[in-house]
Amino acid sequence: MSAFLGYKCSLCGAEYAPGEVQYVCPKHGDMGNLDVVLDYAAINRSASPETVSASQESSLWRYLPLLPVGDPGFANTPLHAAGWTPFYRADRLAADLGLQHVYLKDDGRNPTASFKDRASAVVVARALEIRAPVIAAASTGNAGAALAGIAAAVGQPAVILAPETAPQAKVAQLLMFGAKVLLVKGNYDQAFDLTLEASREFGWYCRNTGYNPFTLEGKKTAAFEICEQLSAAQGHRAGRTWQAPDRIFVSVGDGNIISGVHKGLKDLFALGWIDKIPKLMGVQAEGSAAVANAWASDTETITPVAAQTLADSISVDLPRDGVRAVRAARETGGAYIRVSDAEILDAMRALARRAAVFAEPAGSTAYAGLVKAAAMGMVDPSETLAVLNTGNGLKDVKSAMQAAGEAVKIEPTLAAVRQVVA
Ligand SMILES: [Zn+2]
Repeated sequence: MSAFLGYKCSLCGAEYAPGEVQYVCPKHGDMGNLDVVLDYAAINRSASPETVSASQESSLWRYLPLLPVGDPGFANTPLHAAGWTPFYRADRLAADLGLQHVYLKDDGRNPTASFKDRASAVVVARALEIRAPVIAAASTGNAGAALAGIAAAVGQPAVILAPETAPQAKVAQLLMFGAKVLLVKGNYDQAFDLTLEASREFGWYCRNTGYNPFTLEGKKTAAFEICEQLSAAQGHRAGRTWQAPDRIFVSVGDGNIISGVHKGLKDLFALGWIDKIPKLMGVQAEGSAAVANAWASDTETITPVAAQTLADSISVDLPRDGVRAVRAARETGGAYIRVSDAEILDAMRALARRAAVFAEPAGSTAYAGLVKAAAMGMVDPSETLAVLNTGNGLKDVKSAMQAAGEAVKIEPTLAAVRQVVA
């Protein structure tokens, strides 16, 4: 039994019944992102941290009572493999930074190797419920791969529009999963707007990030997992509450992931399942920092930038979930941090060599933010800190080689080995 009551506009607060609108508040064009409203009393009647922690479901569907969709079925398929990713204690990284409690949430370990599987799983469940004939999405690559992969698992046709500059591994994933792939001779923002237009024209169900309210509902499950897994890691017996970390570091492009994590924490707090909301630390690439700029100017007006960063997944001119992303830091007492591409490459190396997590540039951006926050004295050494990696490093081998350097080539002789190891 779903606790889905309807939607509330994030800009004007207008409320809508589940069948009344599909994507955004009609009063603000394409930018009036909707929050899903849940019946918290009903959820608390059917579930608790204790019942969830006892679940045998090793995917985000362990949180079904907190989601606005019913059980989509398709057990033992990638639809039921999204989420419940590893949560590591990273003591060597913590020691490097003079900190005591650093944890890594590795969402590169999802079925299509990125965080976006969370959003696609819940959007595909919604598409099955409303019997959508075709799902479409604009993507820098990861969201498209996630939609294509999960759609393939349930036999749902998918159309993906991505910028032609998307890394080759991501395009390969789209093609392998059998989606209709349209590489747009333009940037992500142009692909985004074209997907909205085409979805209206051809009657496709549009998964565009932020625009579709169910993307946020999938992404919020990362916050649930961080609190549940932190409790287990700290030996806290799941009863009526889970433990929340002091801060969560999240890389930010469109702003939908940090907004999703914020929504998940707000859900848990409203349910009484955590007793505090962690400070959310948004991290942006210097060359794609529209949300960080708005936060620094203490405004919710998002001014587009001409995005330029090697972290392709967070390269965005106009963040489509910028307002909620600014609020995620402001309402939790968090902050925004900007990092350079060089700092992102440093973070990729550190994550891999000191914690065995191979992250793509956008994923390691969150850790680059922690490095900077620690250096600037923004965190107390005793705080419990969670860092979210959003994508696997195999998605962008070119950047990985840039971070890792070249391998040594030798003649096939022992003498050559001796010369190199000397
Ligand atoms: Zn509105």
